[in-house]
Amino acid sequence: MNIILLGPPGAGKGTQARHLVETRGMIQLSTGDMLRDARTSGTEMGQKVAEIMDAGKLVTDEIVIGLIEEQLTTKKGAGFIFDGFPRTLAQADALSALLAKHGQSLHTVIEMRVDDDALVSRITARSTCANCGEVYNDITKPIPADGKCSNCGGSEFKRRADDNEESLRTRLMEYYKKTSPLIGYYYAKGDLRPVNGLADIKEVTASIEAILG
Ligand code: ADP
Ligand code: ADP
Ligand code: ZN
Repeated sequence: MNIILLGPPGAGKGTQARHLVETRGMIQLSTGDMLRDARTSGTEMGQKVAEIMDAGKLVTDEIVIGLIEEQLTTKKGAGFIFDGFPRTLAQADALSALLAKHGQSLHTVIEMRVDDDALVSRITARSTCANCGEVYNDITKPIPADGKCSNCGGSEFKRRADDNEESLRTRLMEYYKKTSPLIGYYYAKGDLRPVNGLADIKEVTASIEAILG
């Protein structure tokens, strides 16, 4: 079963994807994580990617489609969770073609609905475990009082350079201009299932579980 988690920055895609990985053995394909790895690689592509990401703009379709294709070819598991991909109509078309090429199809697109006011506070309060990537939030999901990650026991946490109000404004504009048309695209295909992303993390998980069955 292959699914897409669709929603603006801070909607909770990464948080819910990690849960599906743990409970169902699915494979999370986060283009954001792949690009963050690429930028530390010291290559020319990495440097270009870093500048675009820090500005809050979208990286070219060619780069992210290439990253996804590599993963589809090399990874096997109980289905893929596309987290933060596709983000443009060209990426959506490329994904259908890639899935078809690998004899696979798309099961559901889960649209995580949140309002913009919630996103600023979520993003500016976000941190992740440097070791395992567990996602925390200063307000809604704080790091345990002993300073150790509840998932792996690690004690180092990081904040993203682009998780500030100014970059978020650009990222939201990119979302509305380039990614939100995908809502209509998948609705017309009959694949779209909305969930209320403003509910508690556990309630959002329950809504997604109910959809996936
Ligand atoms: P968020 O958690 O805010 O949704 P991501 O970690 O998914 O953000 O992405 C961070 C940045 O990486 C984006 O702002 C963009 O620059 C780049 N990026 C990630 N996925 C894509 C994609 N599918 N297409 C283009 N750029 C992407
Ligand atoms: P995305 O991957 O869509 O950018 P994340 O999963 O990284 O979003 O979540 C963004 C921030 O909001 C994180 O700090 C996370 O802990 C927090 N968060 C995620 N889901 C919820 C929720 N349902 N309610 C409150 N906070 C949430
Ligand atoms: Zn951890």
